[in-house]
Amino acid sequence: MRYSTATFLTLLLFSCETVDPLEPDRVIPNQIQPFVDQFIWEAEKRGVDLDVSKLSFEFESGIQGGSAQNSIAGICTRSDNLHLIKIDTLNSLWLLSGDLGHEEIIFHELGHCLLGRFHRDEKFISDDFASIMRTVGLLQYGDLNNFSSLFIVPGDLKAHRRDYYIEELFNENTPSPCWSDPDIISPYPLTFFKESFIEERKYRRMWLDPDDNLWFYGKEKNYLLVGGVFQEQLPGLEIAAMSKDSQDKIWIAGFQEGKILIGTYNSGIFEPKYDSGDFSLVFSGIDQFIVDGSNRLWLGDNFGNLHVWTENEFNLVTGLPEGRVWTMRNGPDNSVYALKGGQLYIFESPQKFIQVGKHNSELPSDFFRSLEVDAQGVAWMQVSGSASYLLQFMPNFEVKRLELHKINLSEIRINSLTTDRNGNMWAATTNGIKKWEGETFSKYCAYNTGVPILSFSSMAIGANGNIWSIGKDTASLQPVLMLSKAGI
Ligand SMILES: [Zn+2]
Repeated sequence: MRYSTATFLTLLLFSCETVDPLEPDRVIPNQIQPFVDQFIWEAEKRGVDLDVSKLSFEFESGIQGGSAQNSIAGICTRSDNLHLIKIDTLNSLWLLSGDLGHEEIIFHELGHCLLGRFHRDEKFISDDFASIMRTVGLLQYGDLNNFSSLFIVPGDLKAHRRDYYIEELFNENTPSPCWSDPDIISPYPLTFFKESFIEERKYRRMWLDPDDNLWFYGKEKNYLLVGGVFQEQLPGLEIAAMSKDSQDKIWIAGFQEGKILIGTYNSGIFEPKYDSGDFSLVFSGIDQFIVDGSNRLWLGDNFGNLHVWTENEFNLVTGLPEGRVWTMRNGPDNSVYALKGGQLYIFESPQKFIQVGKHNSELPSDFFRSLEVDAQGVAWMQVSGSASYLLQFMPNFEVKRLELHKINLSEIRINSLTTDRNGNMWAATTNGIKKWEGETFSKYCAYNTGVPILSFSSMAIGANGNIWSIGKDTASLQPVLMLSKAGI
């Protein structure tokens, strides 16, 4: 999309005025301080020493030097004992920007004032500037929240570029990012898969079996994808969930002719082991089903009840609050972690469990979402309703907060977290798929998907490196199944 309205183009000038007050008052307004802190943190992360002792900010409207078409949003002036940044908070670029846009404007000026950088107006093949140190132009990764609906691409679609631009700010020789040129291969290129699914209700269900074949239920049928070919499987059975036991045996929970069936699957044959008659309670739907490390079967029904196979029938777990079972995951030492009604429960056994929240741990809340447990037994999740940080809940109940803007997930919504066979953590986001690299999530190029942007909602990662994901094509709003890396 081109931005043709020149009025909103904004010049960000660099100049070297000589202002040399003997004892300047150095001020960093509260509104600006978090951005300066973030800049210092970005510098520390890269081993760059900064001298912020001379830094001062002023707000000034109508900064001199601009024109009717190109007003100045900010300016840096450096002298021996003062590094002064003036920001025009009435400038259209500032007014229309959200936090990420403000960060970009301030970081540009800090680039001049603290890093001594000059302007760089070089462009990529994609026509995007190679640096946020460009002289003129709209924001490169920041958002224009307050104006997005009219004609400007919402900032969220550009936020994934932030990691490149910050890197370039501290190192001008940073290699070009994958979104700047279609010939650059992304670390995790995604290839569109031809199939699309229009059944909103069921398209999120997807499983990989121990042989890395993808299973999913859509269009009222079960499909198995082997070598790129969809094969309809187990006609008549509606698979609700699939899990593996400790011997890698596949278990399926589903429905057939109004009855619940739970059984094992091997080489095209489903062998029912239990049915509706094995339950102490009548219900009609299955939300969640897993086999734990001790090969116990756990099932969350559509009334929010939790059933566990013990002593020849599925027994109801009592003492739990109302609310559906959103997620169940195998935890350390054969435990089961579950989110029920948003609350986190850790089950040592069906009888021995605790609810974990702010009353008995360092967790900041009692309600969570997007739970996943990694190979070290660390539970990753977000506070329900809050997207500003990820939580790592350790087996010893210690809690670590990962602020999203510090782990390369800035302004990106996390839809789900998934571990691969090696225990690596992956995030499916509104801006692509990212892998946890130890301190931050990886760079990822959403543009290699062949469409402007896709929102990923769930994924499955095979031992061979295939990443399967179900996403939503934001152009057609249709759910699509994606495959990365190996292709088909
Ligand atoms: Zn400048």
